[in-house]
Amino acid sequence: MLHKSILIVEDESIIAEDMSDSLISLGYRVTDIVYSGEEAILSVAKLRPDLVLMDVNLQGEIDGITAAAEIRSRFQIPVVYLTAYADENTLRRVNATKPFGYIVKPFEEKNLHTTIQIALHRHQHDCLTNLPNRSLLREQLSLVLDKQKALPAMIPVVALSLDRINRINSTLGHDIGDSVLCSIAQRLSNCMENIKIVARLEAAEFAIVLEPVTEKQDAANIAQNILDIIAQPMIVKGSELYVTASIGICLSPGDGSDADELLKNAYSAMYDSQQQGGNKYKFYTAKVANISINQFTQETFLRNALKRSEFEVYYEPQIEIETGKIIGAEALVRWNHPERGRVSPGEFIPMAEEMGLIAPLGEWVLETACRQTKAWQIEGLPPLRISVNLSARQFEEKNLTEIVSQILKDTNLEPKYLELELTEGLILQDEVAATEAFTVWREMGIRIAIDDFGTGYSCLSYPKRFAFDALKIDKSFIRDIADDRQNAAITIAIIQMAHSMNLTVIAEGVENQRELTFLCAHGCDEIQGHFFSQALPMAEFGALLKSDKCWEL
Ligand code: C2E
Ligand code: MG
Ligand code: MG
Repeated sequence: MLHKSILIVEDESIIAEDMSDSLISLGYRVTDIVYSGEEAILSVAKLRPDLVLMDVNLQGEIDGITAAAEIRSRFQIPVVYLTAYADENTLRRVNATKPFGYIVKPFEEKNLHTTIQIALHRHQHDCLTNLPNRSLLREQLSLVLDKQKALPAMIPVVALSLDRINRINSTLGHDIGDSVLCSIAQRLSNCMENIKIVARLEAAEFAIVLEPVTEKQDAANIAQNILDIIAQPMIVKGSELYVTASIGICLSPGDGSDADELLKNAYSAMYDSQQQGGNKYKFYTAKVANISINQFTQETFLRNALKRSEFEVYYEPQIEIETGKIIGAEALVRWNHPERGRVSPGEFIPMAEEMGLIAPLGEWVLETACRQTKAWQIEGLPPLRISVNLSARQFEEKNLTEIVSQILKDTNLEPKYLELELTEGLILQDEVAATEAFTVWREMGIRIAIDDFGTGYSCLSYPKRFAFDALKIDKSFIRDIADDRQNAAITIAIIQMAHSMNLTVIAEGVENQRELTFLCAHGCDEIQGHFFSQALPMAEFGALLKSDKCWEL
């Protein structure tokens, strides 16, 4: 901690000089002594001290409090105030700038030292886990890299992100989420034998610098060891929880020349392992930069969208023909893009699939939809069946069934109110897995619907082979069904076949009365489409449910 640099902002020059002498004798470096708020900001911009000692009562345009606020927000440098006396109002303003400490004048050398040490510690440590934060990590990693330069060994830099921590926060509450983070921090700190530095960078993201290794495999072994330690069950407030992590590793000097580059590359490897379902480690590999800047920007936006709560679930009513009443809703995700406004899922779902983000996104949609459906039930509205789309990539996740059943448990929704929509393509991709999953889900009581039915080619053969509950006729067949003889013939055939197998048929994309009349006449069971309603935001759909609307069909 020695040789930290400090700027003194104090308009009484005797106090300033005195303080400077004390600081130097305590082992600090004084970058500058200035006498006004304006000079303070200029000096910070030029010399970037580690900490600023700021007189509260400065003369001039910019007083101490204003200057401190500016220094905090523009340069993220901690400020400790110097005060002789202060009235209530001043104190309130001082507190609003979230100061790192106060020193009362006339100062005592001992207090000066302690207050500065505490402020520097607070500034460089994460307040939840007390681990070093990004600022200290960069500093310490740079030192490690400097020392290592001459030696032949490699320094592994590891980025670690806990999988599905958002779920813990949303289902069990942030208190439990915080306890989980602290307990993981503790576990990481306890295996310090192979670890030089552990830092917490963001919510559920840690960075770890390992002791030097001579073989890549050594780093791999330690990473696996860390994964095992994290995967051990933990007891938090009486319940047993399981957490896994995704790890990315890069090696200095090969994968980066400074702390920032190494961290960036470790993160990139970490995203790879998240993409592959988590609970694994990946080494960084330099990728050929063949994606366009535009795509790259879009991807960055998308990556952050979940964190920033930019997604929203809309609900499209499904109407039972026999009663004219809403019997269910399809959950359709929307992205409220900060720059482009509402982006359609047709555009971002494929991108999310490619980037490996569909698993967390899909999970979020499923959980949100189930939770909302339960909330409507609790409000006393007629029970609703909620249909949630699953993408092929989600289906590849080994623990999908566990996730689904955990979500049902967490949200307290009875399985019979959940319907999962899957496409033909997904089934054909891995028939064995599909058969297995369908069997388990149906045993749990979940309904299964085949979405966009008819758009694949082998459609008429597999209802025999797979057990499911409903067929959704794709909207391309419904279009102009009353006039298009081919579409009409296909639709009639699908309805007949489905009924002969005891399957429910639902037509999607119904836009007008003629289409509706045709479908009613040919015995279709359920209907959805803009003729009834577009997909609606949660509150509007709730209002529609409350109105207990009944369509004349
Ligand atoms: P889908 O599951 O076949 O959903 C039906 C799409 O048709 C929805 O488009 C819906 O808004 C639209 N639609 C409904 N009625 C009408 C109509 O009368 N006329 C017309 N022209 N369109 C109608 P959306 O919301 O843009 O979704 C497109 C696709 O994105 C969905 O097709 C689904 O495959 C996918 N998707 C949406 N949400 C999710 C999700 O949460 N997870 C996954 N994996 N995929 C989703
Ligand atoms: Mg669908
Ligand atoms: Mg569809």
